[in-house]
Amino acid sequence: MIQVFFLGTSGGSPSKKRRLPAFLIRREALNILLDCGEGTQYTLMSYKLGINSIKVIGISHMHGDHVFGLLGLIASMGLLDRKDTLYLLGPRKLKDFLFTAFEYSKFYPPFKIEFIDAYSDSDITITTFKTCHTIESQGYLIIEKDRVKINEEKIRDEGIKDWRIIRKLKEGNPVEFNGKVLKPDDYLIVKKGLKIAYTGDTRPCQSVIDSVKNVDLLIHEATFLNEPSAYTYGHSNVGDAATVALEASVKLLALTHISPRYDDVSLHLREARRIFLKSILPDDLSYITLK
Ligand SMILES: [Zn+2]
Ligand SMILES: [Zn+2]
Repeated sequence: MIQVFFLGTSGGSPSKKRRLPAFLIRREALNILLDCGEGTQYTLMSYKLGINSIKVIGISHMHGDHVFGLLGLIASMGLLDRKDTLYLLGPRKLKDFLFTAFEYSKFYPPFKIEFIDAYSDSDITITTFKTCHTIESQGYLIIEKDRVKINEEKIRDEGIKDWRIIRKLKEGNPVEFNGKVLKPDDYLIVKKGLKIAYTGDTRPCQSVIDSVKNVDLLIHEATFLNEPSAYTYGHSNVGDAATVALEASVKLLALTHISPRYDDVSLHLREARRIFLKSILPDDLSYITLK
């Protein structure tokens, strides 16, 4: 199970209803923050999403609406006596940006910050993909590893009680039992891992379509409803995001980075669903659970 919290769904500047971009992805004890617009730490704190439980932060690009909250968040992590390493993914300039600001403000994080290109543990991998914006930018792909479970019903039907047999099957080895050979495939259930993709800012582009194929959730920017100059600014219209979702055969599309010029977004959703029915436009602080 993975929970996705939409902490900030505006783009450029905040509006009365929407804050700047930030998304918290939670899988068991692992919390991943994608983008960190100004004020993200307040949002996390007021909703008790503990800032020091964040282990990995991915920044899509260096435009202020996506990164200006990071300095304050890291400073607070330090003041709250964080000891655990913080893993950061982002554009090349992210490290300079942070350490220059730390130097000028005489802030020395009391914990280790490790800059990485990809993250992996026994349950999940996080990788990046190229997006098409006006400056260096990258999207994120979070992939949960497939899990193999023993089919309890079949084990019971077979009358197997010896845990050593169960373990061998789980490890993928055939086992002799009651004079016949049990094949592991017949006793295992593979639970496919979930896949989530986040684009950050981008105009519609092929590398995004190729990278997000078949994901369970695509969080795609849809800055404008129908703005002819959207591509000039490296952004997408709602219809573009829906077309990407359709072409990439994703299961669910969440539209975000909504320009503060729009107060009512009902037309956005209608336009998206005309092209890709499984579209949602989350409000700030809403969350969805993927299973
Ligand atoms: Zn932006
Ligand atoms: Zn941008």
